[in-house]
Amino acid sequence: MAIGNFFSKRSDKRGTEANALGRDVIGKADPRRLVLLDDFEAADLGWFWATDSQARLIYLSDNAAAQFGHDAEQIIGRQLSELFILDRNEDEQEGRVQRPLPFLLRARNSISDLEVRIANGERYDDREVWWSISGKPQFDDEGNFFGYRGSAKDITAVRESQRETGRLAQYDSLTGLANRHRMTKRLTSILTAYKAAKRSCALMMLDLDRFKQVNDTLGHPAGDELLKQVAQRLQRIIGGTGEIGRLGGDEFQVILPDIEDRGRLGDLAARVIQMVSQPYSIDGARAIIGTSVGVAVAPFDGIETEELVSAADLALYAAKGGGRGQYRFYSSELKDGAKLRRQIEEDLRDALSQDQLELHYQPLIDARSHEVKSFECLVRWNHPERGWVSPGDFIPIAEEANLISALGEWVLKQACKEAASWPVDLGVAVNVSAVQFGNADLPLVVKNALQASGLAPYRLELELTESVFIGDPATTKDMFQSLKRLGIKLALDDFGTGYSSLGYLKTAPFDKIKIDQSFVRGATEPDNNNAAIITAIVSLANALGMTTVAEGVEAVDELELVTGLGAKLIQGWIFSKAMPQAEVLERLDSGQLKYEAHGPAKHRADRISMFRRIGVIHEDHRYEAVMRNLSKTGARIEGILDVPLGTDLVLDLGGGQLAVCKVRRSEGPEQGVEFEVPLISDGADGLCTRHRISPYMLAAAGMPLAALPPGHYQMPHSDRSKSPPRFLQIDLTSDKARKER
Ligand code: C2E
Ligand code: MG
Ligand code: MG
Repeated sequence: MAIGNFFSKRSDKRGTEANALGRDVIGKADPRRLVLLDDFEAADLGWFWATDSQARLIYLSDNAAAQFGHDAEQIIGRQLSELFILDRNEDEQEGRVQRPLPFLLRARNSISDLEVRIANGERYDDREVWWSISGKPQFDDEGNFFGYRGSAKDITAVRESQRETGRLAQYDSLTGLANRHRMTKRLTSILTAYKAAKRSCALMMLDLDRFKQVNDTLGHPAGDELLKQVAQRLQRIIGGTGEIGRLGGDEFQVILPDIEDRGRLGDLAARVIQMVSQPYSIDGARAIIGTSVGVAVAPFDGIETEELVSAADLALYAAKGGGRGQYRFYSSELKDGAKLRRQIEEDLRDALSQDQLELHYQPLIDARSHEVKSFECLVRWNHPERGWVSPGDFIPIAEEANLISALGEWVLKQACKEAASWPVDLGVAVNVSAVQFGNADLPLVVKNALQASGLAPYRLELELTESVFIGDPATTKDMFQSLKRLGIKLALDDFGTGYSSLGYLKTAPFDKIKIDQSFVRGATEPDNNNAAIITAIVSLANALGMTTVAEGVEAVDELELVTGLGAKLIQGWIFSKAMPQAEVLERLDSGQLKYEAHGPAKHRADRISMFRRIGVIHEDHRYEAVMRNLSKTGARIEGILDVPLGTDLVLDLGGGQLAVCKVRRSEGPEQGVEFEVPLISDGADGLCTRHRISPYMLAAAGMPLAALPPGHYQMPHSDRSKSPPRFLQIDLTSDKARKER
């Protein structure tokens, strides 16, 4: 339909007008005016449409009709609003609010730049076409409505680019994951909705371990590729259970709505760590990284976005401090932990210059003859106020604070110097952190330490962990060769805990493999395959001409087992703890090279010895008690007198953690209790309950809803009639109580 046919009807009154200056102008009635409009339509600069009083289409530009896959004639007569899809959701999501077309037509309102999606049917069903339409209702001289006259234009390209800009503002262009902005928005809207619905939501923070090394050694494009692969792995694990975002750099975040079970969260975190730590192949090169994970759960650890994020951050920080490759749940003690860490970092700088560090030596004993073959040097820090600080606590801080090279150099020099005074057939093993291994100066540092002390190179052994394989394999290989050229030995420490791959063993020139304590521990318990793993490691080491050490042997049954499985050397408290040089020299001077096994017959299930104040709830009374040790299945408590066997108690472990238990052993003020539901690991050495009492329940029982203080909670239903306490509580700090015990 040409526009002339239709619009001419209402514009034919005045005919051709000559301009006053006699120029050739197109007047309203000039037929050329219609040609002009036809050209305008044909050039797709804009289209025209018209309806009758029933909102049926009576005109549509040809090119506009073509977008429906039809000729204009086929469309004429249809209801205007049928030509468009009503997709309010999309508009609402993108923040556009407009009255829908049928409403405007019914109300005979003007239509102004209304964005509509055309119903272009099967023909182009994979392509969305959007128009912007405008139109005005028409009334005749008597004021009768006779339809709309309007225009339309295609705005598909504009909308697509708007949408792309919107997407860019919300998503990380490298990985396609949500960006920080979107994650914060999502978390805030989830937390707001969940607060009202009293639902829970977990937040997981991830930080890649040693990503920087990959970036530095393999280059930034490789780093980018690695981040993409990490994102894919995360998507595979998390799937539809949560939303994943990349906050920037090597930081990721996962929002997990409706999960508060810390058993489930721990399993998920462990899977994330395991999957992210598998080797990556990037343009033919191999790269290995790890990750640490911090977890916080609303409403227990925080109710507002900021609170929850900072709780998850603190948990992540603690996980990293705990040696990386770990997950950690938030607990209120972590706040103090972060402060302590900063303090330790400061003090460590002084310690290095003020001789507060000392080396202790733990013997490695021949499994058959029980004679000492060498000593492992373990650094000790005698802090002026805190006393002995464990290297497990300060080595990770030293690594992060760039102090490890100075510390490592001091240890190497000192160890070589002290070992030089031992008999010549005794070696010394020195731990070298992956950060030191990544420093090209290491061979020189070792060479200097050997020269200064006069220690023969074959007597020095460096203990490396699997994390040295992170980064560029070629650089790693060069470092191995430079070290071996010095004539020293190399041991692979803590084997099986990190980024384990038997592949390393074939290519790296190790003289010794140290089987991590975690395999020795529990190897004698039924239903675990640690013994099979130890056997496999030993036979592989034998085949490759390497010797094996079983670490952390404490009990007689463990010693028998690992010896039977073929471990050549034993290191563990069953023979000796680490001792100062003076004690080593004393033993050596008196010729005591043989060690005797002293230890419990069996290793007991992990118990954590402690002195921790807890609450004990019985019926509607609450007692104060001290927890002496804690395992997954039970605890030993002290402070209440004469509780009968079989009594049901609830232990209040703080932070909303209530554990229902039964008294299985009872002697005076001491009870052994068994938990109804076993505790779970908190990712580090600690234990926690799977579920917690929600602050909403506490609020219902009259407690404030704000973030939970670390302390004690009554059972939510404790406002029932008070019955007198059944048991006598004793004050463990009083002299009388101490004497009685
Ligand atoms: P590691 O190299 O695996 O050292 C063995 C750790 O296990 C030592 O802990 C040792 O005291 C402990 N251990 C030995 N036998 C037993 C046992 O029978 N039962 C139990 N439960 N534990 C046992 P320590 O001294 O606390 O050192 C912890 C870690 O700190 C070391 O693990 C090592 O990775 C690191 N470290 C220690 N000294 C240095 C050092 O000079 N430089 C570096 N870079 N790291 C060090
Ligand atoms: Mg070691
Ligand atoms: Mg070890």
